Amino acid sequence: MEETKLTGRIVTPDDAEYEQARTNNNLGVPKFPRIIVFCQNTNDVVNALKWVKENHVPFRIRSGRHSYENFSLVNGGLVIDVSEMDGIKIDSKSMTAKIEAGANLGKVYNELWKKGTTIPAGTESSVGLVGLVLGGGIGMLSRLFGLTCDNLLEVEMAIVNEQREVELIKANKNHNSDLFWACCGGGGGNFGIVTSLTFKVQPISKVSIFSITWEWEDFEAAFDAWQHWATNTDKRLTSEIELKSKEANQIIAQGEFVGSSFKLKELLQPLIDVGCPKKVVIKEVSYIEAVQFFDDPSGNQPAPRKRSGSFLNKPFPKEAILTMKHFLENAPNEKSSIWHQSLGGAVEEVGSNETAFYYRDAIIAQEYLATWSHPSEERANIRWIEELRNALSRYTTGDYVNWPDRFIRDWPTAYYGENFKKLREVKRAYDPCNLFHFPQSIPPFINWF
Ligand SMILES: Cc1cc2nc3c(=O)[nH]c(=O)nc-3n(C[C@H](O)[C@H](O)[C@H](O)COP(=O)(O)OP(=O)(O)OC[C@H]3O[C@@H](n4cnc5c(N)ncnc54)[C@H](O)[C@@H]3O)c2cc1C
Repeated sequence: MEETKLTGRIVTPDDAEYEQARTNNNLGVPKFPRIIVFCQNTNDVVNALKWVKENHVPFRIRSGRHSYENFSLVNGGLVIDVSEMDGIKIDSKSMTAKIEAGANLGKVYNELWKKGTTIPAGTESSVGLVGLVLGGGIGMLSRLFGLTCDNLLEVEMAIVNEQREVELIKANKNHNSDLFWACCGGGGGNFGIVTSLTFKVQPISKVSIFSITWEWEDFEAAFDAWQHWATNTDKRLTSEIELKSKEANQIIAQGEFVGSSFKLKELLQPLIDVGCPKKVVIKEVSYIEAVQFFDDPSGNQPAPRKRSGSFLNKPFPKEAILTMKHFLENAPNEKSSIWHQSLGGAVEEVGSNETAFYYRDAIIAQEYLATWSHPSEERANIRWIEELRNALSRYTTGDYVNWPDRFIRDWPTAYYGENFKKLREVKRAYDPCNLFHFPQSIPPFINWF
């Protein structure tokens, strides 16, 4: 049998572009692959899979490079990168879009906007759509249109079947429906290499956005008001609140409303009335301006980071709010923060086992963030995140699989709750040899009897 050759743009440690090619968004977990292949089409993906099989080389799949734990990189192995496959075809008649797996959110929003459409997805333009949707996908339209995966119609994927052959398959609600279910929240890198995603798109034109900034003295009042308000307000309104360190002295709530600024102002009044906001902005803008408003490329340059997260099923009691305050008073540096996004609305209209995304009843997704500049600061930052997570764990549940944390011991329950068993069965059906594996990947279900 003829040996398979890698095809596509190939980068190795001898190439000048290697440093750039191997660098992910999180510099805190560096990895040094032997080869990175930038696939240009599905054929390159198939060849890469055949090559790793024939040569028994460890490999990972990569798109937008935003995995918190760099699960899309591997030391000494092959990185199969799909980011240069980023074509988008929109069918305005059927209101669907077929998007290649390498497109990032910035490209997706800009292309769909040209046809007056969008999909609900995340806020940072450099995040890969594929990694985001496979884990669920939350963003500023979640409460109105649901998770990103709730708008997914079909995936095309290269898998390695029981005969250890590479096969190109489609999964949707009627065909390979168990795999499709798993692609809606089961997390990236588990079953095969997604080459394209088809979505139903939503019409969009003008929206209203807001931003309210308080200082430290309003910490408890602002968070408490937001957590009760954000999850009960009009479902066309999705919002976030970031609690920054005491040193940074800023609490910022922001959000997007698919409706007029007049109505938004009315909805916001209970929040504006809290404490002494230092700045309030409410404006009606084109949808693409709203996308740019929530995108923060300067805050998202590659840096050493540690992040983790959880969900809230009910509002925090006063003790939990004081716990957050204590941690932010004693943060390792000014940049540490706790971020929240409101859920509910269309997200909770889907059952916990209807897709692999389990935490449908959560009212808030909560994220812990730390970043540093010098390696000597790493330990203190990681400790801060883990202690914060543990201190809040009596009030929270699980963790969003797109915010993976290698220190969570019972990660199967944390990411998947009761859906883990079915995910293992899907794994056995589509990746029986467990070729697609990484720390915290779904293991195949083995029936010993
Ligand atoms: C700055 C920042 C902002 C974020 N904002 C949001 C947000 O607003 N909303 C939200 O929901 N999440 C958000 N996230 C989390 C984000 O959804 C996850 O990090 C997601 O996994 C990133 O996907 P990626 O393609 O960029 O990353 P990658 O590191 O390339 O991949 C992530 C995972 O998906 C796998 N994967 C990549 N390509 C494929 C493929 N073609 N087929 C199968 N598996 C594949 C990888 O192996 C890896 O396990 C954010 C993360 C960061 C760092």
